[in-house]
Amino acid sequence: MPVIPLISQEEIQQKVQELGQKITQDYQGKELDVVGVLKGCFLFMADLIRHIQLPLTCDFIRVSSYGDQKVSSGVVRFDFDVTQPITNKHVLLVEDIIDTGLTINYLLQNFQTRNPASLKVCSLLHKPENTRKKVQIDYLGFTIPNKFVIGYGLDFAGKYRNLPYVGILEEDAEP
Ligand code: 5GP
Repeated sequence: MPVIPLISQEEIQQKVQELGQKITQDYQGKELDVVGVLKGCFLFMADLIRHIQLPLTCDFIRVSSYGDQKVSSGVVRFDFDVTQPITNKHVLLVEDIIDTGLTINYLLQNFQTRNPASLKVCSLLHKPENTRKKVQIDYLGFTIPNKFVIGYGLDFAGKYRNLPYVGILEEDAEP
C-alpha cells in the first residue's frame, strides 16, 4: 500500500540528536535507566541512546492496547515487565507515540508505585487531538495530526516498522 511521507529521515535524526543532548544536560551527574515500550520504540530508542552521553542501562516492557486495529481499545494489558527493579533509579520511559494517553498514563501510575528516584517520559510523536488522559511529555519529538502513522518502528498489522521515516498509509490520508 502506498505511503505518504510525513516526517523525513533527516528531520527525525536531527530531532533525536536534540532530544539526546537535552537529556544529557538534564541528567548531568546521574545514571539513567532507559525503559522502552515495545515494540514501537525500538528504532527510536536505539538512535536516542547513542546521543545520550551518560552512564545508562536499558530495559524494555511490552503492553498492548491495539491488536491489529487502528483505534485504541482503551484497555491496556501488561505483556511483560522490566528485568531489573526500577526502585531508586532515574527512569526515562521511551514511547514511540502518545495518542489517547491511556497507555503512558497506566505505565506512569504503575511505575510510580515502585518508587523510582525520578520518572520522566520521552516520546517521538504525540497526537494531541485524541487525548483522553492528559500526561506531561518531558521530551517530545513531534506533534502530529490525528492520522494513523507508520514507519520508524511503528507498524500497521506488524508491517512497515522498517521504514526510516514516518508516514501515513494512503488510504488514511485526506480524500
Ligand atoms: P495510546 O494509549 O496513547 O492511545 O496509544 C499508545 C500506543 O498506541 C502506542 O505506543 C502505539 O503502539 C499505538 N498507536 C497510537 N497511535 C498510533 C499510530 O498512529 N500508529 C501506530 N502504528 N501505532 C499507534
